[in-house]
Amino acid sequence: MAELRALVAVKRVIDFAVKIRVKPDKSGVVTDGVKHSMNPFCEIAVEEAVRLKEKKLVKEVIAVSCGPSQCQETIRTALAMGADRGIHVDVPESLGPLQVARVLAKLAEKEKVDLLFLGKQAIDDDCNQTGQMTAGLLDWPQATFASQVTLEGDKVKVEREIDGGLETLRLKLPAVVTTDLRLNEPRYATLPNIMKAKKKKIEVMKAGDLGVDLTSKLSVISVEEPPQRLAGVKVETTEDLVAKLKEVGRI
Ligand code: AMP
Repeated sequence: MAELRALVAVKRVIDFAVKIRVKPDKSGVVTDGVKHSMNPFCEIAVEEAVRLKEKKLVKEVIAVSCGPSQCQETIRTALAMGADRGIHVDVPESLGPLQVARVLAKLAEKEKVDLLFLGKQAIDDDCNQTGQMTAGLLDWPQATFASQVTLEGDKVKVEREIDGGLETLRLKLPAVVTTDLRLNEPRYATLPNIMKAKKKKIEVMKAGDLGVDLTSKLSVISVEEPPQRLAGVKVETTEDLVAKLKEVGRI
């Protein structure tokens, strides 16, 4: 039986199917009463860790989420997918990548994990920074955009998608891996597993318990909707098209 432990970072984000609305004061997007789900790349990260556990290569999978109390729903989904226990780092507002990286680095050390899985990016802020920053803070090797993960004793082999092809890296554990779309197809949490997950433990912590500084050097100045696209027009013939293009000064 393997002794490896995996920590998986799961972010609660606005569901990908929701039409995002910007707040009238441009301070952010409307989140109240809006459906949230686990960030899709984090689902892939959970799936990968759970598969390694099912292959008996990993002993324990811990899911962690940082944010308000509703993050516990996201952790419950990870538990229903097969994670063993959860950690909720209770912070009032959504944190930036560096603050989350500080929390994850502390937890990775505290929990003595060998593998830290993250999504390659969160679909709300599209930062694609947290995994890299966490690896930097821990001084652990990192493989981002993983499309295949193979454990080889005290090393992990990762195939990653790069421009024009695939790159294969071998990292010494402990290591950070961020997951890309083609790594796997995450399972759905079934009802019996959702019921079982209710009995699994979620530990709640404050950032202060970890001694992590959550101050940020960034402030959001303004959030704006993308410009509205004007409706197109249909033309019947090529001549009409040419005439129309001339009319709008395109030819
Ligand atoms: P980002 O760098 O914001 O694009 O996020 C990349 C990944 O970092 C996500 O897919 C998560 O695995 C992790 N992450 C970011 N924010 C959080 C958070 N608040 N709680 C847990 N994990 C997070």
